[in-house]
Amino acid sequence: MKNETVLNIGFDDTDSPKGMCTTFLAYKIVDLLKKQKTEFLDFPRLIRFNPNIPWKTRGNGAVSIKIKTRNPSNIKTQVKNLVSKYSDVKNGANPGLVFYENDFIPSEFTNFSNLALWRLINRNNAKKFAKKNNLEFFYQGNGQGLIGAIGAIGYDFQDHTLELLSYRKKTKFGKERKISSESVKNMQEKTSPNTFNSFDTKNGRILITPHGPDPVFYGVRGENVDSLLYASKILKSEEKLDGYMIFKSNQGTGDHLKNELNFENMKPYDSGKITGIVSNTPEITKGGHVFFKILSNNHEFWCAVYKPTGISRVASNLIKGDKICVGGGVRKASKNFPRIINLEFINVIHLEKYLLKSNPLCKKCNKKMKSKGKNQGFQCVRCGKKASRKISYQVSRKIKKQLYIPIVSAHRHLTRPLQRKGVINKSSKFDKSISWFHVYEN
Ligand SMILES: [Zn+2]
Repeated sequence: MKNETVLNIGFDDTDSPKGMCTTFLAYKIVDLLKKQKTEFLDFPRLIRFNPNIPWKTRGNGAVSIKIKTRNPSNIKTQVKNLVSKYSDVKNGANPGLVFYENDFIPSEFTNFSNLALWRLINRNNAKKFAKKNNLEFFYQGNGQGLIGAIGAIGYDFQDHTLELLSYRKKTKFGKERKISSESVKNMQEKTSPNTFNSFDTKNGRILITPHGPDPVFYGVRGENVDSLLYASKILKSEEKLDGYMIFKSNQGTGDHLKNELNFENMKPYDSGKITGIVSNTPEITKGGHVFFKILSNNHEFWCAVYKPTGISRVASNLIKGDKICVGGGVRKASKNFPRIINLEFINVIHLEKYLLKSNPLCKKCNKKMKSKGKNQGFQCVRCGKKASRKISYQVSRKIKKQLYIPIVSAHRHLTRPLQRKGVINKSSKFDKSISWFHVYEN
């Protein structure tokens, strides 16, 4: 009998805008391995990487799976075949697949993964990494998928969430998803805060169903397996689904914005945060987008807050001197625009006193005095009382010292929802008794 070995399998970029989905490939791989009584050592891991890279596929999500096996070469062959079969290469997917046989994940992997979370990594660097570390790797297209494939194996969770993804039967791919809106709302009421971002109560919108042609029917995000299973039982739909799988994920952790940006090392497409003082009066464009500058360590940075985020109002109410910490993605400078940070949160640390000046008040008549001309002072038109200078008065601020994040419909996969503020989830233990994968009969 051969010895057991731990095998890590990472893959990414198998999908394209026209269909398929890396998580569905993971579901197919798990299904195949389950039928062979393979021992799984953890939930499949769904890792989202830097969302501010322009050419990413929909969610820039990669998957890794950790198993124990006596026959790794047999499994590798089967997985390779599945990756080829389910990758949408003709529509622009650039799949990458990596095998790493070791229970322990060396720090080089973790460092690579951490970098991919907030920076743009060149795919040639991923190829170099794979060769240098003797990884078995495969790719099609330009090999962009290798970055996520390596990163998904290397990701070291400091915090995590879970997502239950349910999959449609093949005959339903591309067809409209019909799910009871009332049941989604009800599910959220019964399971929140152990689930999040399921229903936008303000706009009556369902947030758990994607809109593209991919095989996902819905995805419920949350903190623990029990809540997700309970949630899926509350949801009502006529559609007969194929099955579901629960992923462990960095979605909802905000981990891409943990990194401190600074002038010296900032590059286009970086994600991160920066603390500084608002250094000009915010400019509001016709479309309602807001642009302003902050001063941090003697350098000024332009920040942009777009209307659809729902926090442009916050930005427009900032004044010079406010101290804020902002997070977002660095947009490349163009001919007409300097480098700009597109904001994904604004944390107001200190609000400056907002002082405005006006003509002095005549206390006797309770009327504003009139200016007598430049440097000529002021006089009350009724009683003739004089005053030499304007008075300043304090205006109440329309924003508070608090964290502002985009409205729920503008959230990205990695956006940390307000209800997860301060939450660090490390509790999801994995064992055989957990119902994390299921294919329905018929
Ligand atoms: Zn007067």
